[in-house]
Amino acid sequence: MNNELIDRITDMFHKTFGKAPAHLVRAPGRVNLLGEHVDYNDGFVLPAAIDRATYIAFSPTSTSLSGLVAVDFNQQASFSPQTILSKTQADGSPLPEWAHYPAGVMWSLNENRLETRGMNAVFASNVPRGSGLSSSASVEMAFALAWQALSDWSLPPMQRALLGQRAENEYVGVNCGIMDQFASACGVENKLLLLDCRSLEWKTIPLPEDVSIVIADTTVRRKLTSGEYNKRRAACEEAVRLLQQDLPNIKSLRDVSMEDFNRLAKKLPEEVSKRARHVVEEIERSKQAEALLEIGDIQRFGEFMNQCHASLRDLYEVSSFELNAMASIAQSLNGCYGARLTGAGFGGCTANLVARKKAVEFTQELGLRYESETGLKPEIYITRASNGAELLT
Ligand code: ADP
Ligand code: MG
Repeated sequence: MNNELIDRITDMFHKTFGKAPAHLVRAPGRVNLLGEHVDYNDGFVLPAAIDRATYIAFSPTSTSLSGLVAVDFNQQASFSPQTILSKTQADGSPLPEWAHYPAGVMWSLNENRLETRGMNAVFASNVPRGSGLSSSASVEMAFALAWQALSDWSLPPMQRALLGQRAENEYVGVNCGIMDQFASACGVENKLLLLDCRSLEWKTIPLPEDVSIVIADTTVRRKLTSGEYNKRRAACEEAVRLLQQDLPNIKSLRDVSMEDFNRLAKKLPEEVSKRARHVVEEIERSKQAEALLEIGDIQRFGEFMNQCHASLRDLYEVSSFELNAMASIAQSLNGCYGARLTGAGFGGCTANLVARKKAVEFTQELGLRYESETGLKPEIYITRASNGAELLT
């Protein structure tokens, strides 16, 4: 499937620009196994880069203008460091929405005094959009690496991730945490990534060979959810502000122990207390996860995933009918260690840890039962932890 994508963009590059592209990059989407809605609370996250990615075929041009073809939208856009501030194209028309992501990366690099040479580029992705697998970060990390490949600067992957996050926060206007860009930039084949979102220290954790990661797409896309997302962030900030009356040294919910939280929760408004409880308990689970994975206790790790889903459903309230159906069917199936919604929620995908020997049977059974419960045909696939953004030629 990935080779097909590469062929498509290479052909399209040829048709559009009359010669073969000089370079090819890929940058993956990601699946998060534990630590949901904690990246913006200074917590720990446990994602993996997946084997679905955004691919760009590109060549440098002799001007500062970049001309992009988005195959998946069947659209083109062109912009330069001179036009990005006004979010317009070279001809003065507004940038299409999808182009805000690559233009945002150009903006963010330029803000950091990193030159972005003009390029002709054709890109496409098999990361589904708006489904919790972070198609936006994969686009950003692919373009950050593409511009790096054409320049004489070179940044470590984490620095590119931070610049991508800045692009999404300040240029696109989505208030995301660092996890998505981090996983897309820093992924390592067959490994989970454990990131401390406060210090940005990270390490890899091996996933046992007899365990598969299965992604189950409900096919329901989240919509108009940025308002809900911002409300969750605001509730977390409100909790910190109120808890600081008793715990003056805390800077974020990361600093609140379970014990302190249980003692003080009654002082919080009910909704704020529910949101904060999810975060405090989820950070506690993700702290313990490292030790579990080190000793290969996938059973208990899977239970944490199930608890995470219940908490996102009942406390953080970011689940949906379809996500709940997909997770609970999966949890009842043979060979499944854990299943939960992944990403911001409100639609999209679940992440499942399944015994490798049972994985094919699991995907079939899950598909059938989900369809009979919801009337929707899901897309379910076995994925593997893959490398982060890389130059392919
Ligand atoms: P996700 O959870 O998948 O990251 P977002 O809403 O954050 O969802 O980002 C989706 C947006 O990213 C799309 O609406 C589009 O603007 C951009 N994008 C993602 N994939 C592509 C693609 N293949 N081609 C062009 N733009 C894309
Ligand atoms: Mg995104």
